[in-house]
Amino acid sequence: MVHPGGFLEVITGPMFAGKTTELIKRIERQTFAKRKAALFKPSIDNRYSEDDVVAHNGLRYEAFVVPTNEEGVELIERITLDEGFEVIGVDEVQFFPQVIVETLNRLADEGIYVIASGLNLDFKGDPFPVTRDLLVRADNIVYLTAVCTVCGKPATRSQRLIDGKPAPRDSPIILVGSSESYEARCREHHVVP
Ligand code: ADP
Ligand code: MG
Repeated sequence: MVHPGGFLEVITGPMFAGKTTELIKRIERQTFAKRKAALFKPSIDNRYSEDDVVAHNGLRYEAFVVPTNEEGVELIERITLDEGFEVIGVDEVQFFPQVIVETLNRLADEGIYVIASGLNLDFKGDPFPVTRDLLVRADNIVYLTAVCTVCGKPATRSQRLIDGKPAPRDSPIILVGSSESYEARCREHHVVP
């Protein structure tokens, strides 16, 4: 797609829906079109670095890694404006504080093509506020589905499993000694005890 001018695009859906793949594809296409483009992702340990964004299918692309706090959001804005990026992508946008909604919306107002990729719902099926608030401001929404691991139908939800069993609604964020995993599930097979 040609550079749309100031534009906010949101890619959303559950885990394994292909959000990161779609984000990398769009950034790469803009680069082929000679647009100055950058990808950002949140850091786990809150340090600034450079690393690749990696999709579940192995596709990767270089990115600025920024902390998931307000300084991280300021860093996205500063790097974008200082370096004169015309297109930016932000992966896992739901991990950033709420202020990122205003920041990305403002960057789009300033003529930048902003592509934000983030989870629609948490493991309980509740919206991630950052993704939700970006969706209603978006100029375009790309709503992707994964494949339900139980029945093969389109999956819109992310199932959290602790030691192979559905995670209860009140389960602690970190469970010491447990093996935790996530699966894509449809509405029928998404379970929150
Ligand atoms: P996301 O960023 O939405 O988590 P990715 O772009 O990283 O998704 O990965 C998408 C890839 O995940 C697919 O191309 C496929 O190879 C793989 N995959 C693994 N499990 C599933 C599933 N249940 N449904 C769809 N794709 C899956
Ligand atoms: Mg992803």
